[in-house]
Amino acid sequence: MAAFSLLGLLLLCLIAFGLFIYKAKYGFNFYETDPPDLPSDLSGKTVLLFSKTNGFRHGEAIEASLPVFAQMAEANGWSLFTTDNGAVFNKEQLQFFDVVIWNNTSGKVLNETQRAAFRKYIENGGGFVGIHAAGDDSHQWDWYENTLIGAKFSHHTLHPQFQTADMHLEQGDPVLTEGLPTLWTHEEEWYTFFNNPRENGCQVLYRLDESGIDPNGSLPLLAPDKDFGMGADHPIAWYKEVGKGRSFYSALGHQAAAYDIPENLQMLSNAIRWAGKF
Ligand SMILES: [Zn+2]
Repeated sequence: MAAFSLLGLLLLCLIAFGLFIYKAKYGFNFYETDPPDLPSDLSGKTVLLFSKTNGFRHGEAIEASLPVFAQMAEANGWSLFTTDNGAVFNKEQLQFFDVVIWNNTSGKVLNETQRAAFRKYIENGGGFVGIHAAGDDSHQWDWYENTLIGAKFSHHTLHPQFQTADMHLEQGDPVLTEGLPTLWTHEEEWYTFFNNPRENGCQVLYRLDESGIDPNGSLPLLAPDKDFGMGADHPIAWYKEVGKGRSFYSALGHQAAAYDIPENLQMLSNAIRWAGKF
């Protein structure tokens, strides 16, 4: 009898683990159809903060980031609207915003109509800032991955998950580089991408010194082939023009602590100003 209970428990654990992996990889995708009410006083420099997660949820990071973005908006005089409602991605409401932040979003967060509206918004001059999981492989959208982000996610560090390494600033747009250190040492769950975003027209803001980490993200059975990095040129934050719009992506931001680091907040506020052409 005890053996059967043990077997049952093991089976339950296996199912739970399987669901967790499936959710992280593909998401349990649902879509809103009723758009939120926008505040009537949205004006001036406007930012939409979108933190919907249909896949893995970086709960602590998202919770920590919300008041930080609110404070950043207040200090800079931006009008900020925060929602996890994907139905805000419609032509009428998107036009109220200069910048849209995908804050650790995961899974397939928009339906086809909402995707089309968002793509048009960017191509017609909208701004995009993607944070950490916004660049992982759970989004299942070729244009988003190849054109808007510009790199295909492979895996993140696992042995150990969090490692401290140096990042080097590259010279580029003065709005983006403003106030940022040329050398920045940071602890992160480091992302590895299959391709270098430079090949997709991206300009790199920070490059990770990969020699300081073990990029291995292999897992027995599930992902045994992830023992590789990107080599000497490992971009970790970058930006590009997409149509008339602008896209910025940073792979940093897994941990809540990242939203307490002055360098990261400076980078994100630069990114919002640059993407919104403020
Ligand atoms: Zn993460």
